[in-house]
Amino acid sequence: MRRPELLLPAGNLEKLRTALLYGADAVYVGVPGLSLRSTSAEMSLGDLATGVSEAHGQRVKVYAALNTFARNTDLEQTRLLIPALIETGVDALILSDPGMIRLIRQIAPQLTLHLSTQANTMNIEAVRFWQDQGIRRIILARELTLREVGEISKAAPGMELEIFIHGAMCMSYSGRCYLSAWRNRKSANQGDCTQPCRWEYLLTEATRPHDPLILEEDERFSYLLSSKDLCLIEYLPDVLAAGITSVKIEGRMKSSYYVTVVTRTYRQALDELTSHKEVYHCNPQWLDELKKISHRGYTTGFAFSKEKITETSPEIKNIQTHEPAGIVLGYDDVHKRILVEIRNYLKAGDVVELLLPRDIVRVNTQRLFNNNGDVVLQAHAGNKIFLDLPCPAPQGALLRKKMK
Ligand code: SF4
Repeated sequence: MRRPELLLPAGNLEKLRTALLYGADAVYVGVPGLSLRSTSAEMSLGDLATGVSEAHGQRVKVYAALNTFARNTDLEQTRLLIPALIETGVDALILSDPGMIRLIRQIAPQLTLHLSTQANTMNIEAVRFWQDQGIRRIILARELTLREVGEISKAAPGMELEIFIHGAMCMSYSGRCYLSAWRNRKSANQGDCTQPCRWEYLLTEATRPHDPLILEEDERFSYLLSSKDLCLIEYLPDVLAAGITSVKIEGRMKSSYYVTVVTRTYRQALDELTSHKEVYHCNPQWLDELKKISHRGYTTGFAFSKEKITETSPEIKNIQTHEPAGIVLGYDDVHKRILVEIRNYLKAGDVVELLLPRDIVRVNTQRLFNNNGDVVLQAHAGNKIFLDLPCPAPQGALLRKKMK
């Protein structure tokens, strides 16, 4: 069975390294000023060059997103940016704006171009249109069913197709939305969505402003606009049967912990599926793992039915059972201890797990050591401490603990 590319989000250099450690085949990053995530999920060109070099060292590809809806002023910025981007060695650019595509084809025809999901590609003629424009890969609209994806794949065998298999869904058609601009003066269309669709709202009737409609019995809030998150881990055979080249995880704004769990979980599932297709089944532990990261309940989205908007439900709130405890910085061979940078308050005796690419190991936290080798009872975010561990752990590996 053909092995699809597992494509992970990398909002910064740490997340890129996390994706590499846990088994990504490719990562996508934002570029300052022009991506659809302009606030907190972009990499400087220096970090990008470092990340590309490290990724290529492990035969992992890096794609840079410039998928803004460009205004005239953005075009000049693009002209200036392209030579520097080429220098970083990125494998492809992700674009959505036809003007940007035309411009980049003129000034750097050698660059590989991917078409962003923001371009709303929904049908075979649209795919052929973009093929004529020199696009190598299309990230299809999330609103397509897997059956439609399969039809497109059969009709356009020369085009690489990519689809989302995990992550947040957007209540607007492929992210074209003014809610954030309206509520928060930060526009999704300029790469600045603050996700106000996830906020808590009360629904009131005009003549009874003090009597909000109660839609949930346990809370006086509704989540009318907030979709559950996409998760297709149970349906990977159907996803692969649709003939796609790349399966993509959403979430450049998400944490390193999120990147750790989704990468290692989908890596295991895809490896199992591609090497033992006949006996493959979805391991319940994979779904359990995906429930330990931030999510709003899971849905299959549009994969099996058109226009399926997941109904409001009390579980459409942020759910997360575990949080990062720290990140491994190194290993002390003499004392058999890992050096950990703490990410969330930790005290002696807390139950902590070390996430390895193929394994999860319980870590002894009875003794926390500071830099001088003294035992301490607790550590705060940013502290560096040593923990007993009989065998080395890779740098960048993540430790987690259950949330209270
Ligand atoms: S506010 Fe919500 S619906 Fe609008 S673009 Fe952002 S994520 Fe999508």
